[in-house]
Amino acid sequence: MVQSSVLGFPRMGGNRELKKANEAYWADKLSRDDLLAEGKRLRLAHWKIQKDAGVDSIPSNDFAFYDHVLDHIQMFNAIPERYSKHGLAPIDEYFAMGRGHQKDGIDVPSLEMVKWFDSNYHYVKPTFQDNQTFKLASDPKPVREFLEAKEAGIITRPVLVGPVSFLFLGKADRDQTVDPISLLDKLLPVYAELLEKLKAAGAETVQIDEPVLVYDLPPRVKDAFKPAYEKLVGDKFPKLVLATYFGDIVHNFDVLPSLQSLYAIHIDLVRNPEQLESVIGQLGDKQTLSCGVVDGRNIWKTNFKRAIETVETAIQKLGKDRVIVATSSSLLHTPHSLDSEKKLPAEVKEWFSFAVQKTSEVVVIAKAVTDGPASVREDLEANAKAMQSRASSERTNDPQVKERQSKVTDAMHERQSPFPERYAQQKTHLKLPLFPTTTIGSFPQTKEIRIQRNKFTKGEITAEEYEKFIEKEIEEVVKIQDELKLDVYVHGEPERNDMVQYFGERLNGYVFTTNGWVQSYGSRCVRPPIIVGDISRPAPMTVKESKYAASISSKPMKGMLTGPITCLRWSFPRDDVHQSVQAQQLALALRDEVVDLEAAGIYVIQVDEPALREGLPLRSGRERENYLAWAVNSFKLSTAGVKDSTQIHSHFCYSEFQDFFHAIAALDADVLSIENSKSDAKLLKVFVDQAYPRHIGPGVYDIHSPRVPSESEIKDRIEEMLAYLKPDQLWVNPDCGLKTRQWKETKAALTNMVNAAIFYREKY
Ligand code: GLN
Ligand code: ZN
Repeated sequence: MVQSSVLGFPRMGGNRELKKANEAYWADKLSRDDLLAEGKRLRLAHWKIQKDAGVDSIPSNDFAFYDHVLDHIQMFNAIPERYSKHGLAPIDEYFAMGRGHQKDGIDVPSLEMVKWFDSNYHYVKPTFQDNQTFKLASDPKPVREFLEAKEAGIITRPVLVGPVSFLFLGKADRDQTVDPISLLDKLLPVYAELLEKLKAAGAETVQIDEPVLVYDLPPRVKDAFKPAYEKLVGDKFPKLVLATYFGDIVHNFDVLPSLQSLYAIHIDLVRNPEQLESVIGQLGDKQTLSCGVVDGRNIWKTNFKRAIETVETAIQKLGKDRVIVATSSSLLHTPHSLDSEKKLPAEVKEWFSFAVQKTSEVVVIAKAVTDGPASVREDLEANAKAMQSRASSERTNDPQVKERQSKVTDAMHERQSPFPERYAQQKTHLKLPLFPTTTIGSFPQTKEIRIQRNKFTKGEITAEEYEKFIEKEIEEVVKIQDELKLDVYVHGEPERNDMVQYFGERLNGYVFTTNGWVQSYGSRCVRPPIIVGDISRPAPMTVKESKYAASISSKPMKGMLTGPITCLRWSFPRDDVHQSVQAQQLALALRDEVVDLEAAGIYVIQVDEPALREGLPLRSGRERENYLAWAVNSFKLSTAGVKDSTQIHSHFCYSEFQDFFHAIAALDADVLSIENSKSDAKLLKVFVDQAYPRHIGPGVYDIHSPRVPSESEIKDRIEEMLAYLKPDQLWVNPDCGLKTRQWKETKAALTNMVNAAIFYREKY
């Protein structure tokens, strides 16, 4: 019999209950016990959904209050002393690492948080000391949650991040030099102890995630697998299913022979179906293959016919007992359930499948290959009908868009003059001081803003009333920026629900969910719009607000747009048209917007591309260069329509450019603002090495935490940057937009930031 399995389930709950509980707890409005109880309730609810759907292997320990990697950091006691020394309650120590802690005389910033592979989920980076030791928590979370499910009559398959990935995804703490992978020998006994405890608790199998196997790994990391897994296989341990996802593992085949004592290997056959046959060829005689055929990263219904064919291929080689039908990855990256979508066009809704539905898909496919197609005939017929309807729908094809794409020329990608000439004009035009200060776009999205937006969405206030409210908000942030003495203003983005959704709502080719939330980091969720057809811009999208803001201020007003790659990556893209085609359609729409902003008197325009990097294929080589070529081109196409005197900014939420610096430079943006406060300023060296000629604003403070940086701390950051960048190259700004912050800390932090900039302005 072919088993079905789910690699992980979204944690938030159908109505983002986890987000609400966390935030209430942080605001002292929910007790610790109530928070823990809410977590327990959600776990049970999610196990039950999967049990009722008939899933054979249901995951546990996939739940996390903040992040699952952070769970491991705490469970292994890899907790830097700056968090452990305060004697905080475990959950508070955990949140302190995840989001910083500034309360009761404790003041500690969070650990670094980075993107999980090429997704928009962020994990907390394990951070190691030179003398690092590990110790298993006395009541380890995976055991606790396994028993919790067992008590409810559900035998689960606990999920762990594997030891090699845990180390490789981590880093040495600031001012430490340890190579994380060298800590493997110290870490393995802790895994062994944990696995033994899981076995004792009754866990038959454990899913151990080693997603780093899809990367190009340095030899010392590859070599780490064999000794690691030799120590974790045996009668006293549960059987291990080693899971990989988001790529193929063919280039790491030399690792697989050393893994032949493992019970099963899971591979992502949505992303890389072509790896199937070669992986089968590498399996040991008794090993099982878990076939990831239901997409954990997108919302499209699984094509049953194709998935069944794939699984049948595996069965022919391995037999039914050695094949598992699974989701390609955890369903963490998909929204909870399609059932709560009441507003989607009926035609389109038929094409989608969210986590709850995907759970059933896995079961249907497993049944089809176990008992034959007749056993699930109705499901297969309905699925075939949905596939057919999507392929032939008029919604997906717009001949005018295709016509315009056919007329795009090379010249449309280039600014009129090279940077030095442009800059000379911008300088006289914009009259900026040395070390110009600015922010990244959004100001705090207050409760009041959300209330008014909700009222407007529900039709409780008119468009005019809402517009008046937005104008009032803009007036307010202009006034605050006057008081703060910033140099380049923003309008604060009060009208934007989200930096991608807002644009999607104003473009043809998109549809939206009302409740399709996906976790981005901690309690923060995004609701990605869905690209279903060819994209075009029926009317200006941001001109009204930017123009209004410019009209009431004397300083340059920066227009704010989300770039084509970010619009693409933070949406659920189509899977029937290449992403480069979708990106070009977005770029043409944005190009019109950029030109309209300039015509409306906006002479600084920022086109945010924080998702550029996450789109980078995980392995270097041709695939990566192809991606960069079309990604860079789409940015240039969207921005190159302006005059030399108009200054184009771009923004990135990271500063690790080493491996694709040529692409960043090729964007030809006049100013780049980047995240930097939590990274090592050494990363800026690449700008010197590559003689980067244009201007840069490395963030001077972290915006993910409510912590207020002091003026001297910011001065120190600027000083560090000046080791790499010329004074007239440097802008002073926070790491990112301020929408998730409160006004109180925002004003305090920006006051310190402006004072620090003024200090250097006077010095130079
Ligand atoms: N302009 C956006 C903002 O300030 C940028 C957000 C981002 O880079 N993630 O919110
Ligand atoms: Zn950012």
